[in-house]
Amino acid sequence: MNNTRKIFIVLTLIVLLPALFYSVYEISSLNDAEEMISQLYERQMDAVLFSVNQYLLDVVSGWATQIENALPSNDFDRIVRSNSSILSVIVSDTAVSKLRAFPSAPQEHIRQLRQQKDRIEKLIRYQTASYRKLEPVIDTDSTMIILFIPSSSTATVVGIIVDTDRFIADVVGRKLTDIAQNDFVIAVVRGASGNIAFATSPVGEREMSQQRPLWIFPDHAVRIRLQGTTIQEAANERFAKNIVLILLMDAVLILGAWFVFRMIRREMELVALKSDFVSNVSHELRTPLSLIRMFAETLEMGRVKTETKKKEYYGIILHETERLTRLINNILNFSRMESRSRKYHFRSTDINNVAASVLAVYSYQFEQLHFAVETSFDPKLPPIDADEEAIAEALHNLVDNAIKYSGGEKFLRLATQRGDRGIVLSVSDRGIGIPAEHRTKIFEKFYRISHGLVHTAKGSGLGLAIVQHIVQSHRGTITIESTEGKGSTFSIHLPLTQT
Ligand code: ADP
Repeated sequence: MNNTRKIFIVLTLIVLLPALFYSVYEISSLNDAEEMISQLYERQMDAVLFSVNQYLLDVVSGWATQIENALPSNDFDRIVRSNSSILSVIVSDTAVSKLRAFPSAPQEHIRQLRQQKDRIEKLIRYQTASYRKLEPVIDTDSTMIILFIPSSSTATVVGIIVDTDRFIADVVGRKLTDIAQNDFVIAVVRGASGNIAFATSPVGEREMSQQRPLWIFPDHAVRIRLQGTTIQEAANERFAKNIVLILLMDAVLILGAWFVFRMIRREMELVALKSDFVSNVSHELRTPLSLIRMFAETLEMGRVKTETKKKEYYGIILHETERLTRLINNILNFSRMESRSRKYHFRSTDINNVAASVLAVYSYQFEQLHFAVETSFDPKLPPIDADEEAIAEALHNLVDNAIKYSGGEKFLRLATQRGDRGIVLSVSDRGIGIPAEHRTKIFEKFYRISHGLVHTAKGSGLGLAIVQHIVQSHRGTITIESTEGKGSTFSIHLPLTQT
């Protein structure tokens, strides 16, 4: 397993997994908390609904007591008059054969009562056990009958005919408004249709959270919700907010871990590149040194007889010394660049001159390697503000590369011309070319493309980093045009002035 993979796994284990576990735990405990709140809320609502039911039962129970008290005199007038929702009171024997209605009762109520024999029997059983049960019976759409057996006589059954709408408006409604205050919205709905028959404040049918049947009022139910935002809604909102926060935190963590991973990977790549750099530079230093030493010793021993041979050897020594100087300068300049202590001295510079003098340094090498060299210098090129030495150094690096990566076709073209904002200096070769994915990376320090030539064409990986630094310090840019296997052109664009 490579190191990058190991770091990835370690980061995942120590940062991401705990974050993930924590998130899952948080989300599940959030759920529990919200559920608890929900339950508390439901219980509170239940208590309110219970008290509504209890109250209605008390009201009807009060009627029953009043009627019971009035039974001996059969005077139910006062009761009916003082309770607008009571339409009439029917007193009958339990077989429902002898009926009296106060003030009167239409035939349909009487018919309805006659059908309730089973219920009446049940009520008698309750009454014999000393419990006065109130039994509601739906009569018509607008009326209901509440049956009970008075404690004074189990042979009598009493039916209270109640106007449903009035009961809801007067009795139920008043009590609900009392309870609801500004805290709740309470409504009475008709069971089958779900229509709201009464509501303490305007409310949609679906907005009610809880519903309980009305004990004394079959086919009707009370519904309730908190005024404004309900606790459930608030809990849901909080839950959603917390989830978003947790996900956001996870995203930040993942992003952070990814950045750390990338930084570590980059540092490791740099370490690997630096170790390559050391071995490359040692090789780069050793090769010219051993050549210089070898030719100097041969000359010193007086073994070289002809002047032309001697000249050739001196030429080699000079050339290798220049190569060494360039390499060492490169390293020194790079370290100055890294420590930001490199200074540039801008003067009016003739770039054609700089290009020609750089080329001249390579004349021996070009000859040896049989290079076809083409130049195209614009004679009308204006002088520009530049550090002559730095531009020469950049050019040296580009020409060095054009030679090193020339492949089979030994060709080099050096050109100067006017550009949009200044001048353009370009070095072209017909060498191995640069794959598109490496074109920005080759300007990074120590970066070398690992192709076959890396082993034969030695280098430090610093050349283009230095070139870019120099060009940027001149407020210029560098561009590459390249086709793999066909060659590359590096163009330096420099402005005319630095002001
Ligand atoms: P090096 O010392 O390796 O030449 P540079 O920074 O000068 O370092 O170049 C970085 C890499 O860019 C080189 O290793 C090489 O792979 C690639 N490169 C640079 N110039 C050329 C070119 N003219 N043709 C092909 N590849 C090039």
